[in-house]
Amino acid sequence: MTPGTVYLVGAGPGDPGLLTLRAAELIARADVVLHDRLIPAEALAGARPGAELVYVGKQGGGEQVAQEETQRLVLEHARAGRTVVRLKGGDPFVFGRGGEEALFCREAGIPFEVVPGITAGIAAPAYAGIPVTQRELASGVAFVTGHEDPSKPESALDWPALAAFPGTLVFYMGVRALPRIAEQLMRGGRPASEPVAVVERGTLPGQRTLLGTLADVAARAADEGIRAPAITLVGAVAGLGDQLAWRERRPLHGRTIAVTRARPQASALAARLRELGAVVVEAPAIRTSPIVAELPALGRYDLICVTSPNGAHALFDRLADTGLDARALAGRTVAAIGPGTARALAEHGIRADLVPDRAVAEGLVDALAGADVTRALVVRAREGRELLPEALRGRGAEVDVLALYATVAEPLDEEIARAAAAADYVTFTSASTVRFFLAAAGALDRARIVSIGPATSAALREAGLEPDVEADPHTPDGLVSALLADVE
Ligand code: SAH
Repeated sequence: MTPGTVYLVGAGPGDPGLLTLRAAELIARADVVLHDRLIPAEALAGARPGAELVYVGKQGGGEQVAQEETQRLVLEHARAGRTVVRLKGGDPFVFGRGGEEALFCREAGIPFEVVPGITAGIAAPAYAGIPVTQRELASGVAFVTGHEDPSKPESALDWPALAAFPGTLVFYMGVRALPRIAEQLMRGGRPASEPVAVVERGTLPGQRTLLGTLADVAARAADEGIRAPAITLVGAVAGLGDQLAWRERRPLHGRTIAVTRARPQASALAARLRELGAVVVEAPAIRTSPIVAELPALGRYDLICVTSPNGAHALFDRLADTGLDARALAGRTVAAIGPGTARALAEHGIRADLVPDRAVAEGLVDALAGADVTRALVVRAREGRELLPEALRGRGAEVDVLALYATVAEPLDEEIARAAAAADYVTFTSASTVRFFLAAAGALDRARIVSIGPATSAALREAGLEPDVEADPHTPDGLVSALLADVE
């Protein structure tokens, strides 16, 4: 049997966005992925269903699965003709034993390829705003690792040579090694005032950077409880971290925010929050379930109100079912409750005639004050509020309500419910997300509660919770702005 190819693949430093295209492509193709601990969980999510994922890293701080055992597995799978991805944190050839594994494959006569990854020693400083080289400050960079136990004689790095190195030193060593690194470099002639940066969990959501000097870094790292994994960088460039830090200065850095809206709508909000630095827990408490209602002849109405993006999409789904399209709305006045609904209508070729300033039913009622309406159709969720139909009836119009979908509970995974309840902020974008989320997740005692608008706030109060923040305008963008204002 022809052996499968073994790919020695770097998964980058932790941020899934730093996985290379080649790595993603190979993970998606692999029959077996043998992976270490420090790889992004999202990287494995790209494996094909049925692929075997085998963890071969350290067992909870204990011993590594023996290298021989890992190599035995690599060999066994490759010999069985399988495509093997050996996935390692950072770059496979930078302190990753990738070289050993390549030699082993060569000796065993197994074809292999190497896919470089972004190494932590460059990525963590970059995410801390520190260029590892910089004209006039550092014209070289050295990557260093060593045994971290100072009592072990084999820890002997050539400290005088490292101290004399004319450039940046990047240590892939734990915080325990810090006192020794600082002491040895000062002994070798580096000034006590030399800048040092320690980047904990570089590129990961909890990234934290400590900027200090050789004189004080060890004590400060201990004070601040800096832990593994961490990169320690010594050299003048570390001083730039103060000016160039960008990631940890993003407004929502370090905040965990739960998004409870239905999955299809959650992703845009989640992406926006992540861009601002937040860790987002997607905890969809609801989903919509279509109601296959028969469409009335739309030509009968002079006004058609659509009260949610879901309603807009559902309306066009139903039209399509009956072989119709946007022309069925020709000549009608179309009102959207807010900009999101207007966008959804536009996707189907309908530009709303009316979008109120305030994206709530009251806003739509006000905006329609001057309109001369004889017959109106309100397209909405089964659970929609009666405010709009009643107001229109009060003005003498004949109003039909067309419920095209129902909002139902989305079962929440226990772990996600727990993570959401422990978040710094929990965001609610409708009364039904409030009801269903609280039913699934129980009490919220520490999170600040963010409501998109008055109807959602009313549902929160009904459940005994006072919203800490209420968005205005009552849109996802308004919600993000309100959240930012609260953080400041
Ligand atoms: N092959 C990897 C390095 C493996 S050695 C690479 O190229 O990045 C493991 C060491 O890398 C850790 O002890 C730590 O010093 C460093 N490291 C790995 N990931 C890190 C991260 N996200 N942030 C900071 N340091 C990291």
